[in-house]
Parts: sequence; C-alpha cells; structure tokens
Amino acid sequence: MSELKILIDQLQNAALNPGEAVEKAVKAAGKEAVGCFPIYTPEEIVYAAGYLPVGMWGGKTEIKQADKYLQSFCCSIMRTNIEYGMNGTYDSLKAVIIPAFCDTLKCVCENWKVAVPQVPVIPVVYPQNRLIESGFRYLIDEFNRVKNEIEKIKGEIISDEKLEEAFDIYEKYREKMREFTEVAKDYPVTINTKVRHLIIKAAYFMDKELYTDIISNIISELKNMPAEEFKGTRVVATGLIGEPVELLDVFVKNNVAVAADDFAQESRQFRVPARQEGTAMEKMAYRIVDQRGCTFLYEEEKTKGKMLIDMVEKSNSDAVVVIMMKFCDPEEFDYPVIKEELENAGIPLLYIETDMQMDSYEQVRTRVQSFAEMLG
Ligand code: SF4
Repeated sequence: MSELKILIDQLQNAALNPGEAVEKAVKAAGKEAVGCFPIYTPEEIVYAAGYLPVGMWGGKTEIKQADKYLQSFCCSIMRTNIEYGMNGTYDSLKAVIIPAFCDTLKCVCENWKVAVPQVPVIPVVYPQNRLIESGFRYLIDEFNRVKNEIEKIKGEIISDEKLEEAFDIYEKYREKMREFTEVAKDYPVTINTKVRHLIIKAAYFMDKELYTDIISNIISELKNMPAEEFKGTRVVATGLIGEPVELLDVFVKNNVAVAADDFAQESRQFRVPARQEGTAMEKMAYRIVDQRGCTFLYEEEKTKGKMLIDMVEKSNSDAVVVIMMKFCDPEEFDYPVIKEELENAGIPLLYIETDMQMDSYEQVRTRVQSFAEMLG
C-alpha cells in the first residue's frame, strides 16, 4: 500500500468512526475532551486549557428521545446532538460549548441543561454587528467568559503563553488546510468528493498537531504526483455540511468532483488567515470580523453570491451545488439571493435538501445523474 493511501485511510477512518478516534486521541494525549458545537467555537481556548476539542456535527442515529425537546422541524444536526447527549454517548465530555448563531442553537443551549444535565454547557453569543469596534470588544469579552468557564471546570488558569501557543497550533493547521484544498483540486480522482470531505472532517476528532503532520505529508505526497486528468464535472459546493456521506457516493459515482467548497464544516473554518497584530484573543476575534460570505455572520451587503461566482472562476468549475440541511433557516434565507445571482451570472446550480437521518438516495441519484449529463 502506498504511503499516500495509508495516510488517507488513517484520516478517513477517523472521520467514519469518530467515537474510536476521539478515544484514541484522548488516550494518546492524556487529555479529556470538550465538545464543540458548530460553528466557529473558540477551540483554541479549549486546547490551551489542556483539553481535546471535539467537533459535534451530528451523526446518523435514530431519534428516540430528542423529540421531547426539539420539534421535528429543527435541523437534524441538533436533534442528533441532543439524542447522543441523552443516550449517554457524550458522558465522557468535560463540557460542551454551544455558540448561539440561530434560533435552534439558542434553544439548544437551554434544552441541553435539562436534557443532558451530566455534561455542563458553556454558551457563547457572537455579536450581530461584528464590524464595529464595540462588536469586536464584545466578542473578546465573550471569549474571556468562555475562558473563565473552562478554567473553573479545569481548576487551573489558562496562561497567555498557553493561549498564544494554542493559537499558533491552530493557525498552522488552518494554513495547511488552505494549501490542501488548493492542491487537492489537481487530484480529483485520488481526492474525490467523498475522500476530500472525510479528510477535512477528521480534524474534528484528532489532536490538531498530529492532524497537521498527517495533512502536511498528504500534501507532499500529492505534489510528487502529476496532476490527474478528469473528464467529469467540477463544482463549487456550499451549505452547512456535505453529509450524509452516502450522498457523496452519488457524486463520486457520477463523476462530480468538488473543486472548492464553502461548507461551514469545511473551508469556512480555515479560509480566513489570521491578522498579524494583537493578542491571541484579539486574533481569534479578528478571524470572525474578517470572515465574509458566511450565512451566520451579518452582512449588510450580502457577499456570498459574488464569492461563489469568484470561486467558480478561480477553481475552473462548471457549476455550484447547494447541499441544504433541512431546516437550517439561516442557510435557507440566503438561498434565494445566491440563486438569483448565480442565474444572472449564467452558472448552473443544483439544490439538494438533506438531513442526517436520510436513508433513501434514489431521488438524489436521479437529480445528480441528470445534472452531470446536462453539463457533460
Ligand atoms: S438551524 Fe442551521 S445553524 Fe442552526 S443549528 Fe441547525 S444547522 Fe446549525
């Protein structure tokens, strides 16, 4: 087996078996884990405290108890997170951090306290108006509050040095991820749509230093290979998350490759480089200030459509695919705006609705197949 295949398999296995991956990471690092709900949770603070930050982006499980707290129209990521919390899957977590970006997340902060009382919750509220000085300062106050809460749980103060160190580790990881997504574009056969997603997702269940070493080696191995010829359809994908993974099998089968993405779970986590000035806390806040084209961060002039059009040009893609998590209202509100902008730019668009418990892919298969044939 080639070195590249071994490295890719290691990350794919972590992404497909998060429970095992976290257990392994916790043992190897001698650390306990803290759960980080989507989106933009300040993981550096968790890391600086000596905990392992673990991503909580839902999963595939039967919803049996979560309906006591969340209506059936709430997104399936939150329903599965509450379900896992209630059935004890998350009992080993020292705490969970929940950013309150949408109405569902706001309710989940309160629901968690009664549904999963054994795991403490730390809410974090992001300012709507992050582009003004007071919004920026407020965000730093919020991050400091999260830091205080974690310190109480840990029983230790997080030093400025530890925070700077953690920020540097995360920034190295983010820099490598930006490089990976650039390099991967030239290898759509080896790094197909599903492999690309699983490689990126694995970072949520591993120590970031170890993960960064592995992804650096994958990049080097890829660069040693000639660019791959690809006769299929290249797309820019957007949405919250490119799951369930079975959906990605449909893309692979129909030769549709993601050349660039705007997923909240993927590139939105690392596409903004840190500013050079300021303390680690300030740099963390600047990363939110500098993020553009994200549904969850208020923009007077919506830039997402224009950003997607630029991404299509730069990545030499044929179309945009929107993977819409039912019923993620912030993402849904943006859709009519980007649809009109993409149509005006003459860019083909495929809209697919998903949820984490989806078990039939036949309709999606027909739509993806027709889309690929139309563009082929
Ligand atoms: S509605 Fe959207 S943003 Fe809110 S929790 Fe669900 S998936 Fe996340």
